[in-house]
Formats: sequence, structure tokens, C-alpha cells
Amino acid sequence: MFIKYDWSLAELQELYALPLLELISKSNALHQEFHIPAEIQVCSLISIKTGGCPEDCKYCSQSSRYQTAVSAQPLMSYEVALSEAKMAIARGATRVCLGAAWREIRDNKQFEDVLAMIKGIADLGVEVCCTLGMLKEHQAKRLKDAGLYAYNHNLDSSEAFYKTIISTRTYQDRLNTLDIVEKSNLSVCCGGIIGMGEKINDRLELLHTLCTRNPHPESVPINRLSQIPGTPLEDQPKISVWDMLRVIAVARMVLPKSMIRLSCGRIEMSFEEQALCFLAGANSIFAGEKLLTVANTSVDTDDQMFQLLGLKKRPAFSKGSNHDSLSYREAIKTAESREFKAIGYKAKSN
Ligand code: SF4
Repeated sequence: MFIKYDWSLAELQELYALPLLELISKSNALHQEFHIPAEIQVCSLISIKTGGCPEDCKYCSQSSRYQTAVSAQPLMSYEVALSEAKMAIARGATRVCLGAAWREIRDNKQFEDVLAMIKGIADLGVEVCCTLGMLKEHQAKRLKDAGLYAYNHNLDSSEAFYKTIISTRTYQDRLNTLDIVEKSNLSVCCGGIIGMGEKINDRLELLHTLCTRNPHPESVPINRLSQIPGTPLEDQPKISVWDMLRVIAVARMVLPKSMIRLSCGRIEMSFEEQALCFLAGANSIFAGEKLLTVANTSVDTDDQMFQLLGLKKRPAFSKGSNHDSLSYREAIKTAESREFKAIGYKAKSN
């Protein structure tokens, strides 16, 4: 199966403008082709260094520039991090992400401590991801050597809109970080936030930046803004689930192999709304009562939803592809249909 990397922004705009049900039907067909539709990836996000961040991201509870309910904490100990990871794994997580409110990684004792945590958690047999800010090549190599599977660094929005949200590092800084991660053979996790006051085009420009990277990010978190009291975006109106659905469906179509993760904001979504997101192509969630500092859906509630929808938790390191199943031949026929050719997909049958 060939993946397309030369999308134009106009093509994304055309997809976005499709009648919603037609858009979801197309994105779901691609989802079935590239993934096992009954599988859901369950990830856990542990805040190993909370608050006191010098950056000025206007949506963030952890920026030291805003008066929020979050105060600066020291780095979590190895023992606590391992115990939290074990608890998350026991509740079904197969990917554990460690987040630190840092601008960048520094070559200091704290980095050594994080490397030890990565090694300890990787030894438990799960995918380990980190989000530690900007990094240099030698640091990426050390992370990889410690057993890190993926590195998260979000682009947040379009380049133009990004400038209105963050002034302490540029979009190019973020792209450079992604390049370093990719060069180090770490899997790239990169997504964004919708509902910060951006236009539809900003959302599409973000997706366009991601889908014209080669390779595509392995993992793409889609966050709905959580309006944190004390931040400049505290009064931002909520965006509707229909906006989320269109972004997820277009993301699935232009990033067919990537894991599309329903991230922040899921706690406010009903089972029905989440089911629509899964139908549109989302196939990963963050589980656990807290997403860094923000409340998240309880594990029991998620388990109820999975049971209701017949979703099974995806094993760690799964390729997530449907290509070995009998239905693959059917999927190939679908991919060769006129509609998929029209949006730039080609399939080969061997
Ligand atoms: S989003 Fe990350 S970099 Fe930005 S203020 Fe929050 S913790 Fe710092």
C-alpha cells in the first residue's frame, strides 16, 4: 500500500468540506483498511515533573507565567514513576507516556533519572513515550538506548496561529525537534489542540504539515482545549464535537497508518460522541483519571464503553494493520475504487 505524502492544502479543504456522513464513511473505510477496527490503543500519561515551566503556552496550567491551581513540583522519584506505570499497565495501558514541564532536556542528574525510569518501564514490556521539550541529537540517542519507543512534541496548530499562542519558542524550533527525533529512529508522536480560537484553516494547515512529512508521525494526539482557569484561554468557548469529528476524519484520511489519539477533552464527551470519533478513525485514547494536570475519564467508565462498543485493547508494539486478515483482499478492492483513486490512494495486490 502506498502512502501519499504530497497532499495539497486544497485537497484537505475539499475533504473537510464533504458532507459529514460522507466524510466519515470514507475515513472509516480507510480506517478498516489500515487498522483493526475493533482495537483501541490505551495509553497512560504520567506527569513526572509538574508545573513551573518557563514557556508561555497560553493554554497550559503548568506555565509559571500564569496563576493556575498547579504549583511547581520536583521530579517524581523512580519508585513512584514505576509504581504508577505498573498500575496503568494493570488497568490495560500498553503505552506509557512520561511528561515533564520542561522547555528542553538538559544534560543533568534529572535527565539521568528520567533515563532510569524509561529503562525500568520499558522492561515491563510496554511502549514508552516521553514529552520532555526540545532535545539534541545526543540526548535523543540516549533516550533510544534507554529503551524509549516514541517521543512526543506537538505542533499545536498552524504556524501562523501558533505565534499567537506561544512566543517562547518558534514553530521551526518544534519542527527541528521532530527532525532530531525522527533521525534518531524514535517513533514520532505529534498532534495539536483545537478550540484555541483558531480558524478551520489553521487546523487543516496543522494536518497538512503532518501529512506532508515523510514518514508520517506514528501517533497523532488530537486535543480539545480544556479551558484552564488562570490561563489566557480560560474563557475560550468550547468547540462542538462536530468540529472534532471533521478533524479526526480528515486526519485519518491523510495519515492512514498513524494512530489517532483522542486526548484532552474526552472527559466531556458522551459514549455516543466518542463512538462517532472511533468510527471516523480515532483508535487510541489516553486513559487514567488524570492527563498530566487535567481530569480525565475514569478507567472503569472507559472499560464500560469498550464493552459496549466491543473494542479490544491493542497489544503493545502491534502493527495495527488489517493486512493479514481475510478481509484484506476486500479492502484492496475498496482501495482501488474510484473514490480512493480520486483522493490519491493506489493499492497493489501483492
Ligand atoms: S505546554 Fe509544555 S512547554 Fe508549554 S507551558 Fe505547558 S509544560 Fe511548558
